[in-house]
Amino acid sequence: MEIYEQETKLYKALSHPARLAILDLLRQGEECVCHMEAAFGWRQAYISQQLMVLREVGLLEVRREGLNIFYRVIRPEIFAVMDAMRQVTGVRPAPKFKIGVCACPNCSGEHEQALIKI
Ligand SMILES: [Zn+2]
Repeated sequence: MEIYEQETKLYKALSHPARLAILDLLRQGEECVCHMEAAFGWRQAYISQQLMVLREVGLLEVRREGLNIFYRVIRPEIFAVMDAMRQVTGVRPAPKFKIGVCACPNCSGEHEQALIKI
């Protein structure tokens, strides 16, 4: 049964609503932790805990830029797994998240401003 261990770890990591939501949010690309706070309304400690699980199984990569911490999916094949599961459950495709007020660099346009200054 050892051959299944690695897969089992991955399924366990996926087996949580918050982590599925985070992965869906990251379909669009890299996002800041503060962006996830704005999207879901969860505490940062809770989000970090979920991100840690996804990172431990090798799905995410983290990047620090100043005060911001960005996460991105490094195994996009996982989205095909999630989509296949949705076909089984009959649940509609990944939702589009409405982001309220968000001060992350992607939302506030700081990235573009920084690029223009250079
Ligand atoms: Zn944002």
